[in-house]
Parts: sequence; C-alpha cells; structure tokens
Amino acid sequence: MEKYDVIIIGSGLSGLECAYILSRKGYHVCVLEQNAHIGGCLQTFRRGKTTFDTGFHYVGGLEEGQSLHALFRYFDLLDLPWQKMDEDGFSEVIIQGKSYMFPSGHERFADKMAEYFPHQRQQIVNYTSFLKKVGENIMNSFQTGVKNDFTASTLLERSAYDFLQNSFDDPLLINVLSGASFTMELCAEKLPLYVFAQINNSFIQSAWRLKGGGSLIAEKLADNIRRMGGEVHTNAKVTRFNEHGGLMKSVCVNNGEEIAGKHFISSMHPALTLSLIPETSNIRNIYRKRINNMENTHGIFTAHLQLKPDTVPYLNRNINIFNGTSPWNDAGVRSSGTTAALVSFQMPKSGGAYTSNIDILTPMLWQEVAQWANGRGAAYSAFKAQKAEECVHLVSKRLPHLKDSIERIYTSTPLTYRDYTGTYEGSAYGIRKDYSHLVYTLLSPQTQIPNLLLTGQNLNLHGVLGVSMTSFFTCAKWVGMESLIKELENGGPVYPR
Ligand SMILES: Cc1cc2nc3c(=O)[nH]c(=O)nc-3n(C[C@H](O)[C@H](O)[C@H](O)COP(=O)(O)OP(=O)(O)OC[C@H]3O[C@@H](n4cnc5c(N)ncnc54)[C@H](O)[C@@H]3O)c2cc1C
Repeated sequence: MEKYDVIIIGSGLSGLECAYILSRKGYHVCVLEQNAHIGGCLQTFRRGKTTFDTGFHYVGGLEEGQSLHALFRYFDLLDLPWQKMDEDGFSEVIIQGKSYMFPSGHERFADKMAEYFPHQRQQIVNYTSFLKKVGENIMNSFQTGVKNDFTASTLLERSAYDFLQNSFDDPLLINVLSGASFTMELCAEKLPLYVFAQINNSFIQSAWRLKGGGSLIAEKLADNIRRMGGEVHTNAKVTRFNEHGGLMKSVCVNNGEEIAGKHFISSMHPALTLSLIPETSNIRNIYRKRINNMENTHGIFTAHLQLKPDTVPYLNRNINIFNGTSPWNDAGVRSSGTTAALVSFQMPKSGGAYTSNIDILTPMLWQEVAQWANGRGAAYSAFKAQKAEECVHLVSKRLPHLKDSIERIYTSTPLTYRDYTGTYEGSAYGIRKDYSHLVYTLLSPQTQIPNLLLTGQNLNLHGVLGVSMTSFFTCAKWVGMESLIKELENGGPVYPR
C-alpha cells in the first residue's frame, strides 16, 4: 500500500519548496535526501566557531513588490535574519584597476553608472528601465501563453550579449554592468537575456545577506513541512525508481528499502534521475539521449578563508575583481590562471566591525579536476592550494593585508559539488541554457511517466529566485497554476502557528 502521496528526491531548495507547496495543499509528502544534512547548495559547514556558506551567499528583491518577496512570503521565509546589503554599493566591480559601485534602486543605479559613463546616460536609463519592466513581469512567467517584450517566453529567445552590445557603445560599460554576475557563467554565445536580466534586476532592486547562512532557509522549510505532516529523511539515497504499467510505483533507498508513493518529484540532475530509471520504462531513448547530451554550466572553486580575529573589516557588499578586461567568456574559465573572483563576507555574529571569514569564488571547469574524479591524493591537494593562492593573490589587489590575516584556508571544487549534491560534473547551475536552442535546453517538469515530475535549477532559471519559480511550475502540473497564483498573491503561511 502507498504510504505517501508524494515522494520528493533531494532536499535542496527546490525539493523542500515543492514539499512545502504540496503539504500546504494537503498532500502527505516525504522528502528523501542522500546526505546527512538537508539543503543541497544551501548547506553550510562549520570549522570551530566559524560557519561557512557553500552554494548560497546573497539574494535580491526581498522588499514588498520586488521579485522574490511574494515567493518568500508564501514560503514563510521573510522573517529569517536577512540583512540588507549597502544601498550605496551592494556590489563593487573592479575592472582594469578601477572600482565601480552598484547601488540599490533602479534610479540610483542609473545615476551612479551615468557618473562613471556620462556619455552613455540615456542608454543606461533605458537599460535600467528595461530591467525594471522584466522584473515587473515576473508574475507573467507563471502564466502560459502570455507573451510580450518583457516576459520569459520572449526574453529567453534573445541573446544577453547581443542585447548589451546593441544597447551600449562603450565596451567598458558593458563589462562593468556584467561584472557583478560573472559567476553565473556569462557565455556570450549562449546566455539568454531572460537569465541575465531577471537576476541582475532582482539584485538592483535590493540585495540581502542571511545572518547565519543558507542552511537557515532549508531548516525553516523543513520545520514547516513537518508541521504540516510531511517527512524529511536524511541519509536516504535513492538508488532506483520502480515503474509498473507506465506509472512510477516506488523508489529504492540505499540499495535496499522500497518506499511506495502515488506521485514522485525528482530534484536531482535530470541525467542522474534517468540513470536510475530502468531502460524498460516508458522513457523514450530519444529523450534519454537528449538529456544525456546536454551541456552543463561550469563549476565553482571556492577558497573559504578563516581569518585571524579583528583583522579584516566586514564589508556589507560583494567585491568582484578582474585581472582580465571582460567578465564574458574568458573570466577565469577559458583562460589559464585565476583572472576573476567574487569575494563574499560573512556577517559578524555579534554585529562587530570585523568578519571572521570570507569566501572567494572563481569559475572552474570540470576538466581541471576530472583526473581526480575517482580518487584524490597529494596532487589534488597541491592543485587546490595553488588555486587558493591565486585567488588570494588576485583579491589582495583590493584587500592588501589579506594574506597576513589568514588563519586557515578550506577549499571546494566541482568535485565537492558532484559528491555533495550529485550535480553533473560539479556544475554550479546545472544544464546550460542556450537562447538559440531554447526548445532543446529548457526542460519541462513533465516526463514521459505521468506521475514523475522534475524540478530544480536544471529546468529553467537557476539561483534562489529561479528555483523558487520553478517549484511553482512543477507543482502546478498537479494542483493547477490558478490556485497557486491566488495563494501566492494572497500571501503568507496558512498552517496553524
Ligand atoms: C558556489 C555556488 C554559489 C551560489 N551562490 C548563489 C547565491 O549567492 N544566490 C543564489 O540565488 N544562488 C546561488 N547559487 C545557486 C543556487 O544555490 C542553486 O541554484 C540552488 O540552490 C539549486 O537548488 P536545487 O534544489 O535545484 O539543487 P541542489 O541544491 O543541488 O539540491 C539537489 C539535492 O538532491 C540531493 N540528491 C542528489 N541525488 C540524490 C539521490 N540519489 N538521493 C537523494 N538525494 C539526492 C542532493 O544531495 C541535494 O541535496 C550558487 C550555486 C553555487 C554552486
């Protein structure tokens, strides 16, 4: 007999959000997570008294009327200890040795950029009002068939790079405007305008850090899922899907226990999901081939720096620093050496003036670590140490005393992400979207097995905003979009407090 209405594989943001949505709708939900800790990319890790983030550092658009606000109100995540990043500069982009601040608010942003590039003032104003309209149309993303100049369906088919080239005459301005989002993979030949515009817009609206780290999001969602009668299990690796008569019937966990359900949602990478479904199932070979051949975005190397007490002042903004001239294509991933880095500061626990730790993130290709995919050793450790040193060297141009302030360095590579989240080749943002092959690279939650859906960053837009939207698209396949939109618009949680 089926024990659960819905079995959800993976407890990253997408799996937990789907579990939350369906629990609110009265389904009896069970989340299965392979790791000892929930959260996927939202996980934090501790070394001594220091907490480090992994795949989450900041979000945008948390104020009323902004991109993420309605979604996080629905998910009851607004009362976590969010801290607004500096309104005068939530991001600092350093390019060719010069520093450019990104202020919050479209008008302030435009004014500041026009200070740096007065000859492009009108183009900058047009750009920011374009971003604003993209953000205002975010709710249309939830409705099928709606198409205008600013909706997802239209913007996904346009090139972000061509848009910028056509909007501005000054290449330095294009590089500056792109500089705060280089870690998301600025692939000039492929990146759809929607991805670039929606993410940049949400951060320009307002940018936020979470005191205590991303795991607070996962814990709050899991607590509320349990409160609504759902279950979240860790150390439960799904090793096989069992299909019968064209429907999914159960999953096997840790090569043993079989757990039965009526509906299934997989937040694993789609290729991994398919690898666990027997060849005899209704999944057609052509679909398998398509999924298996899809390209994935690059991975990320992070140098997690534990700092000596009271040595590095806390900055309430990110620093994006470049050695090369362009954040597009060659920002660290296609050239040798470390030429681009994002610096994220951990908020001081006690509200003091100094940070205990910072993360330095830089893109890393799978090929750089593939030789250690089946076994690591001294050479891998040496490689990581060298890469960390390069990161520190680059960032020292902005924080000159950094090297002397370091207590200890921990590192993570695409191999770490492959092992912790099951993402293919340690890809940071999953399947790479391509504006010129949209039908091919954008995935529907629906599979050829009616009671198995997909969700997560691989389908649509990545990041906290994108994944939260996709969780709605996935659940709407069963519970209908209309009622979900109503609940989203009506606001907060409905369970008893
Ligand atoms: C370095 C880095 C920094 C980032 N920074 C930001 C940021 O600052 N802001 C932002 O908005 N976004 C950021 N992102 C992106 C964001 O974290 C992701 O888009 C999002 O969290 C992905 O959620 P998900 O649920 O789709 O996938 P995941 O978080 O990968 O979750 C998938 C889950 O499935 C589990 N799983 C896999 N296989 C199995 C199995 N067989 N059985 C059971 N469980 C399984 C995994 O363990 C994992 O918990 C960052 C990403 C990276 C990599």
